[in-house]
Amino acid sequence: MLQLTDIKKSYTTGDFTQVALNGVSVNFRENEFVAILGQSGSGKTTLLNIIGGLDQYDSGDLVINGKSTKDFKDGEWDAYRNNSVGFVFQSYNLITHLSILDNVEMGMTLSGVSSSEKKQRATQVLERVGLKDHLHKKPNQLSGGQMQRVAIARALANDPDIILADEPTGALDSETSEQIMDLIKEIADDKLVIMVTHNPELAEQYADRIVNFKDGHIVKDSNPYVETTTNSNYELKRTSMNYFTALKLSGKNIATKKWRTGLTAFAASIGIIGIALILSLSSGFQKQIDEFQSDALSEFPITVSRQAVSMDEESLKEMQSQGPMAKKEFVKSDKVYLYNPADSNVTHTNNITQEYVDYLQEIDPELVRSIGFTRMVGMNLLRKTDDEVTPVSINIGISGVGGAGAGGISSMSGVGLSSYPVSIDGKGSSYLKKNYDVLAGNYPKDETEMVLVVDNQNRIDVETMKNLGFDTEDIESLKFTDIVGTELQLVANNDFYDKSELGNFMPTQDLEKAYTASANTKLKIAAVVRQKEDVQVAILANGVAYSDALVDLVLEKEKDSEIVKAQRDSDTNVMTMEPFKADEKETFVAYLGGDSTPMMIYIYPVDFASKDKIIDYLDAFNKGKETKDTIVYSDLASSMTEMTGGIMDAITMVLIAFASISLVVSLIMVGIITYISVLERTKEIGVLRALGARKKDITRVFNAETLIIGAFSGFLGILIAYLLTIPTNIILENMTGLANIAQLQPLHAISLVIISVVLTLIGGSIPARMAAKKDPVEALRSE
Ligand code: ADP
Ligand code: MG
Repeated sequence: MLQLTDIKKSYTTGDFTQVALNGVSVNFRENEFVAILGQSGSGKTTLLNIIGGLDQYDSGDLVINGKSTKDFKDGEWDAYRNNSVGFVFQSYNLITHLSILDNVEMGMTLSGVSSSEKKQRATQVLERVGLKDHLHKKPNQLSGGQMQRVAIARALANDPDIILADEPTGALDSETSEQIMDLIKEIADDKLVIMVTHNPELAEQYADRIVNFKDGHIVKDSNPYVETTTNSNYELKRTSMNYFTALKLSGKNIATKKWRTGLTAFAASIGIIGIALILSLSSGFQKQIDEFQSDALSEFPITVSRQAVSMDEESLKEMQSQGPMAKKEFVKSDKVYLYNPADSNVTHTNNITQEYVDYLQEIDPELVRSIGFTRMVGMNLLRKTDDEVTPVSINIGISGVGGAGAGGISSMSGVGLSSYPVSIDGKGSSYLKKNYDVLAGNYPKDETEMVLVVDNQNRIDVETMKNLGFDTEDIESLKFTDIVGTELQLVANNDFYDKSELGNFMPTQDLEKAYTASANTKLKIAAVVRQKEDVQVAILANGVAYSDALVDLVLEKEKDSEIVKAQRDSDTNVMTMEPFKADEKETFVAYLGGDSTPMMIYIYPVDFASKDKIIDYLDAFNKGKETKDTIVYSDLASSMTEMTGGIMDAITMVLIAFASISLVVSLIMVGIITYISVLERTKEIGVLRALGARKKDITRVFNAETLIIGAFSGFLGILIAYLLTIPTNIILENMTGLANIAQLQPLHAISLVIISVVLTLIGGSIPARMAAKKDPVEALRSE
C-alpha cells in the first residue's frame, strides 16, 4: 500500500550538501510492524518525515494506495498528513496548554469532525491506551509513559492507515518502554506501523520486519514485499481550522500567561487611553463652545431694521474716508474740518417688503432657531372685573421679539407686551418650552393663550398688573393661580371704534357692548412662566407675552377694518383730525393693524456655522438689485466667529498626534510580543502542521492571539479612560466651575476598540506570517 521508489533527499547548508537519503526503494504492507534500525545520522528520521509528508523528497516517488504523490500540492500534503498518517515522536510533542482530551481531538478538529463525535472518539482512544481517568489533565501533570500514550492516542484518533513512530521509547525506562511497545504492537494488527529505533533487542522482540539503514539507504530487509495491488481511488479529506478553533487555541495559550498578556495589553492600551481622554475632553469643550455660541447668538441675532448701517464695501470705504479712522496719519493743522455724516450713504433705509418676509420664511429650518418680526400692532383688549369692563390700557403690542431688544419701541408698551416667535415650522410654543419653565398653568395650546413672564425673582412690573386690572394695593396676596385663567377680550376695530358725527373715529363708550361683540376673540393668560435656569439669554420682556400667530390674526382681521380703510385714504389722523408729520401716517396705519410688514426682523441662528449660511442666504437676496432695493442686515455676533474658528480642532489634532505616537509604540510592542509568542510556540506550530494544519491555519492561530490582545487592550483602555474622566472632571470643575467637561462618546469608544484591534492585527501580522512559513520538521526539532 505504501511504495517508495528511489527516494533521494539532501540538505544544503551553506556550501555543504549533506545527503540524507540516497536512493531508498521499499514497499510496505497494509498492516505490519516495521522497525527501522540504523546508526544515528543514517537518515531514519528523514525517511519517516518524507513518508509522513512533513518533508518533501528531492527525487523518486512515494506512492500511496497506488496514487503518486509527485504532483501533490500543499493542501494535499496537509490533508494526507491529517487523514492518512499519525505521528508518534520521541519527545511526545504535546501542546502543553491544552488538556489531554483537546490534544487528542486536535487532528479531528482540523478535519472538521463534529464536537460530540470528536469527544466520543477521543475518549475511546484514550481509554484504549489506558488513560481513561486523565482526560482533563494537562500534559505536564503526566509521567513520560503516560505522555507517550497520549501521543499514541492522538496518532490513532483520526484513524489513519499509517502510524510513524520515531524512537517512541527513547526517553522512557525499560519497563515503560515495554508497555508502550505492547501498545504499538497491538495497533499494528490492523495498521501499518513504521517505527524507528536504535534498540535492536526491542526491534527483534516486537517487530514483524526489520529494515537496516546505513548512510541514507537500506542495507538489509528481513521481510521484503513486492507490491501487487494498485488502487488509485485514493481520496483525501481537506483540512481547515475554523476561526473559533484558532481563538480557542490562542485563548488557552494566553490563559497560561495571564500576567504577561495583561501587562502587554495595559501597555498597549496607553495610546488608546490618551486618545480617548483627548477626545472626551475636546468634545466636552466643544459642547461648552456650542452652548456659548448659541447664547451669544440669542443675545446678538442677525437684525434687519428699517434704518440700517450699510456694511457693504463701498460704504465702508466711504465711512473710513470721513469718520474718525479716516487716515492713520495725524493732521498737522490749526484748522477745523467739517463733515456731515448724513451726507454719506452709510445709513441705509431698508424697504422691508412682503416679498422679503416671504423670502425669509423660506430659510432652511435647520439653520434657524427662530425668526422674530417686530410689528407695531395695537390690540383692543378689554377685561371684566367685578362686573365692570375696563380697557387693558396702552395696548400697543410689539409683535416679535422686539420687547426685549427694540429699545424705544418697547417703552411704548405699558403692559410690557411682547411676543415669542413662532418657530419656522409653525409650532409656537416650542420656543417657550425650550426656554421657559411654567410656574403655574400650562404651555399655550394655541394663539389665543398668552403667558405672563416674570423675572428670576418672580417679580412683575406694578404698572403691568395695574393695566391688566389687578388690585395692586393688595398685591401681597396675589398668587400665580389668581393670574392664570385671566380672560381678556380682543375687540375688533369695527366694534371698538365708533365714528362720531364729526366724522372722526373714537373708542366706543359702551365697553359692555364691545366686551360681548360677536367678532371678539377670547384671550386667556394660560400660564405664568419664567426663564429656565440654564438658559443664559431669553428674549421675552417681563409682562404679557403672546405668539406671533396672534399678531397675524389681528393683522388679518383689521387690515380691511373701517378705521384702517379711512386712515389709508386720509392724510390727517382720523382720530384727532390733525395732519400727520413725516412718516407718522405709516406708523399709525401699522398700529391700527393695516400694515403687516415688520419694523424689525430678528433671526436667531442655531450656531455660528448656520449663521454663516444664513448670511449667504441674505446676501443672495441682494444680488443683482439696485442699492436702494437691497436689504442691509447687521450682524453683531460676527466678531465672535473668528474666536472659535478651528482653534479647538487644531489643539485636538496636535494632542491626538502625540497620543498616536504611543499607539505606534504599542503597535510595535504587540509585534514583538507576538514574535516572542511565535518563538515560544514553534513546537506547537510543528505539531499542528504534523496533524495536518495548513499554513493559513497557523496564520489564523497567531492572528487570533493578536486579536485577543488587541480587543482586550482596547476595552481596557476605554475602561481606564472612562474611569479617568471622573477625577479629570472633578479637577476641571474646581478649576473652571464647568461640570462634566470630559465625556467619552460611545462612538469614540467603539472606534478606538476597533482601531486597537486593527493596529495589533497589523503589528502581529508579520510574526504570524513568519510562523506560517516555518518548516514543520525544523519546528518540531526546536526546543
Ligand atoms: P537519523 O534520524 O537517522 O539520526 P536524520 O534523518 O535525522 O538521521 O539525518 C540524516 C542526515 O541528514 C544527518 O547527517 C543530518 O545531519 C542531516 N540532516 C537532517 N535534517 C537536516 C536539516 N534540516 N538540515 C541539514 N541537514 C540535515
Ligand atoms: Mg532520528
